Amino acid sequence: MSDLIYEGKAKKVFKGLEPHQYVLYFKDDATAFNAQKKDVIESKGILNQKIASQVFQYLENHEVQTHFIKSLSDREMLVEAVHIIPVEVIVRNITAGSLCKRLGIEENIKLDKPLIEFCLKSDALGDPIMMEEHIYIMNLATHEEIQHIRHEALKINTLLQKLFDDLGITLADFKLEFGKTQAGKIVLADEITPDGCRLWDQATGKILDKDRFRKDLGGLAEAYQEVLTRMTEKALA
Ligand code: UDP
Repeated sequence: MSDLIYEGKAKKVFKGLEPHQYVLYFKDDATAFNAQKKDVIESKGILNQKIASQVFQYLENHEVQTHFIKSLSDREMLVEAVHIIPVEVIVRNITAGSLCKRLGIEENIKLDKPLIEFCLKSDALGDPIMMEEHIYIMNLATHEEIQHIRHEALKINTLLQKLFDDLGITLADFKLEFGKTQAGKIVLADEITPDGCRLWDQATGKILDKDRFRKDLGGLAEAYQEVLTRMTEKALA
């Protein structure tokens, strides 16, 4: 494969054959709590590549602009090269995780409307939550870009809630990253996989996401496989 540009916790990024294209390579590494907890979970990368490709294709079919071009192999995805805006966009439909810990809110409360939070993408600082104003003083994105990102995040949330609901899965929350193309367009980037979502089986309440790893519940690959199988059987349109 061509030149390695960057290695992250769960993916490697390579130069593509064409200019302005990258190849994302999905690894089996699992990390949590800012990489203080680490493991290798066989086939996680394959499952995530397949899930992310289906989700991106579904979003593209519904007029969401993403970096996705096509799936190349079990672990490789071809994407448009973007400059990642170093802001993690968290969308929440049901209370869980850091929201509850930080504010002392009870878990599993349905929110009246989706909540959007921003975190600085910085391993060194542990991805601290930030106010929109902090994005501007750090010149990470313009006001116009953030309004566009908010709009896209809500649209993506509506589409993903429907997608997962049709699979009998509740989408409690998830993380998005956006990037800027060579032409200056803001598109959805990174990945959408159970590594960055909270997914709960509606019939049993079973956790089908990375919380299985965070909470030492085991059966992570089996849970991701369950999500992929339901997606494939449903043939997302
Ligand atoms: N999330 C993520 N990467 C991060 C932080 C959060 O993918 O660096 C996802 C996480 O999987 C969950 C959602 O964003 O689906 C909200 O996470 P939260 O802020 O509750 O953090 P956590 O409790 O997971 O530390």
